[in-house]
Amino acid sequence: MSRSVIPPSRALSVPLKTAKSRSAASQRWLSRQLNDPYVTAARQQGWRSRAAFKLIELDDRFHLIRPGARVLDLGAAPGGWTQVAVKRGALSVLAVDLLPIDPIAGATYIQGDFADPDMLARLTAELGGHADLVLSDMAPNTTGHAATDHIRIVALAEMALDFALRILAPGGGFVAKVFQGGSERTVLDILKRHFSVVRHAKPPASRKQSSELYVVALGFKGSSGPLSGEAGRRRGI
Ligand code: SAM
Repeated sequence: MSRSVIPPSRALSVPLKTAKSRSAASQRWLSRQLNDPYVTAARQQGWRSRAAFKLIELDDRFHLIRPGARVLDLGAAPGGWTQVAVKRGALSVLAVDLLPIDPIAGATYIQGDFADPDMLARLTAELGGHADLVLSDMAPNTTGHAATDHIRIVALAEMALDFALRILAPGGGFVAKVFQGGSERTVLDILKRHFSVVRHAKPPASRKQSSELYVVALGFKGSSGPLSGEAGRRRGI
């Protein structure tokens, strides 16, 4: 699938009728959902979330999902990225989220907090070896305070990267959601040391008004030792 899958000209314009009982924020959300061509296309094409198109667009551009790949999908609910990874030829997908996910054929699911101390051991055991691609679309609930939100999302990206450095097979890839704001610089510096190619990407499906963007790293150079913990050490964990 390519970018042209959602022609902007086909955007709907659905007016909201009565909305007395809704808050202004929920009216804005509903109106945005009803008028979002990606939401419509996701429903029509059977993707569980509009986010599926972000991975489709990233994969079209970077060829992340190789046939037979073992994929770890962090922050996977409701499962759009997991569906895309399975559909595009992954051998296995291990999905993790705080929230429940309805089963997806070809994927295994662990419900829990990725930040839990037990989680890394659980994931390592479940993977039973290396992964070829680590995806993190994890996003904490936003507080509305941009600096706080930025710090929290970058902390999740750093944790994902830390685990990726331990678990990826040589040649593997890593994708994580970050927000523009500066402190993702550390993540980029670490990525550049460990991967041959590192890019920032804002897929067309990512809303323009959102400061969300993705770091994409390809060609993992190989683990420097067991559980290097580079990003985690910086955070003092
Ligand atoms: N990629 C998903 C898809 O395609 O359907 C959408 C992911 S959604 C943007 C972000 C997810 O990150 C939420 O479901 C949230 O529960 C999850 N999340 C946030 N913090 C997490 C954590 N500490 N551990 C596990 N999941 C987390």
